[in-house]
Amino acid sequence: MLVMKFGGTSVGSASRFQQVLKLVQTNWQSGNKPVVVLSAVAGVTNGLIECGQLSVKRNLPAALEQLAKLKEKHLEIIKDLFSTPQPPALLAEVDAAFGQIDILLRGISYLGELSKRSVDAVSGFGELLSSRIFAAYANLNGLPTEWMDARQFLITDETFGRANPDWAEIIPKTKASLNPILEKNRCVVTQGFIGSTADGVSTTLGRGGSDFSASIIGVALHASEIQIWTDVDGMMTADPRLVPDATVLDQVSFQEASELAYFGAKVLHPLTIKPAVEKSIPVRILNTTKPDRKGTLITESPAKNDATICSIASKKGLTAVFIHSPRMLMAHGFLAKVFDIFARYETSIDLIATSEVSVSLTIDRTDELDRIKDALSELGDVNIMHRVAIVTVVGRQFRQQSGIAGQIFSALSKINIIMISGGASDINVSCVVNEEDADKAIKQLHHEFFPAVITA
Ligand code: ASP
Ligand code: MG
Repeated sequence: MLVMKFGGTSVGSASRFQQVLKLVQTNWQSGNKPVVVLSAVAGVTNGLIECGQLSVKRNLPAALEQLAKLKEKHLEIIKDLFSTPQPPALLAEVDAAFGQIDILLRGISYLGELSKRSVDAVSGFGELLSSRIFAAYANLNGLPTEWMDARQFLITDETFGRANPDWAEIIPKTKASLNPILEKNRCVVTQGFIGSTADGVSTTLGRGGSDFSASIIGVALHASEIQIWTDVDGMMTADPRLVPDATVLDQVSFQEASELAYFGAKVLHPLTIKPAVEKSIPVRILNTTKPDRKGTLITESPAKNDATICSIASKKGLTAVFIHSPRMLMAHGFLAKVFDIFARYETSIDLIATSEVSVSLTIDRTDELDRIKDALSELGDVNIMHRVAIVTVVGRQFRQQSGIAGQIFSALSKINIIMISGGASDINVSCVVNEEDADKAIKQLHHEFFPAVITA
């Protein structure tokens, strides 16, 4: 059994729905029974959240106008997918869903109150709609399908807006709800993103939460693989907009995927697939529009591979903070004081390097910088450098390789390196450079570590 999750762009239009059906059918015919987990049609979750925001500002007409556009978008897709007469049951379901959203928006507007709980109630409709459309379309086109409301089995706590799975409830409920359908030889179509509290109140797993749903369902049913179908080929050796020769990574470890996610490889949030990786279920990222590509396989520990470097990534728009204090020499508790200041102002530190008398670090958020600076001044001299970037080389078992640091520094020999740090995870070496040098650094490092790709 296999989980196939399709993101918003994969169900963004009628032709994408058709493509999704083909992909599901291919697995179905080869005897690999899929559970299909769908996101909302691209843009719909945002649109629904906007409706809620307009309603709470007492701008109900604008909210309802926006809602009408969202309904039109779904009806367009239905019109393109089905010949006339369109399936009356599906049209009735779509009508009913929009009727319910309408009632919710009026309530929000009259009360002038939009709690996270209400946002969840409204924003989860996108998945309910896309999955209804797909199930009806699949059934009419030769794939016996059963639509399943994920709120029947994906039980969560009450952290609205970012609910946590209640595994003790989920595992038996998912098996009891989905296995009988699979045993009847029907394909399951369900929703990502949404869940329900034990009392039956709708929740969501947080933005982008459909990957999490796929992972949860895959774990509950012991899937052989979880496929995340999206609009990119997978994780890459560098950002292809910057390095045209960048190539797709066949396999990455969970740790590597986590490192890359920080650098904005927005393919998926690694935490969402952690449960699957822990249960040794492989997660594969695939491109819906180019299904013949191999994609990227994420596992706990990928098969041995000669490549020492996995990817080169950067993050711009950071600020470096330098604290210099002779008092630090052989004193204890100094770093604790530094960390305490950052914790007090809820500013997370990205990268840190220390010497006996100085601490250098980078931060992303700067709204509390003035206060942080004042507090740090009690500990030593403080200097700030704005507009820096982290450039990182994510690799494998650096500690067992010699010469990698040398290669990194020779590739960057003409670039001013402000700070250097080796990750505790044994898989990254990061440098801080001026923001304007970051692109050049990425290109030079990619050229250094992936020469075969450049000359190919
Ligand atoms: N539709 C939801 C969102 O846009 C969940 C998802 O697509 O993963 O955040
Ligand atoms: Mg997504």
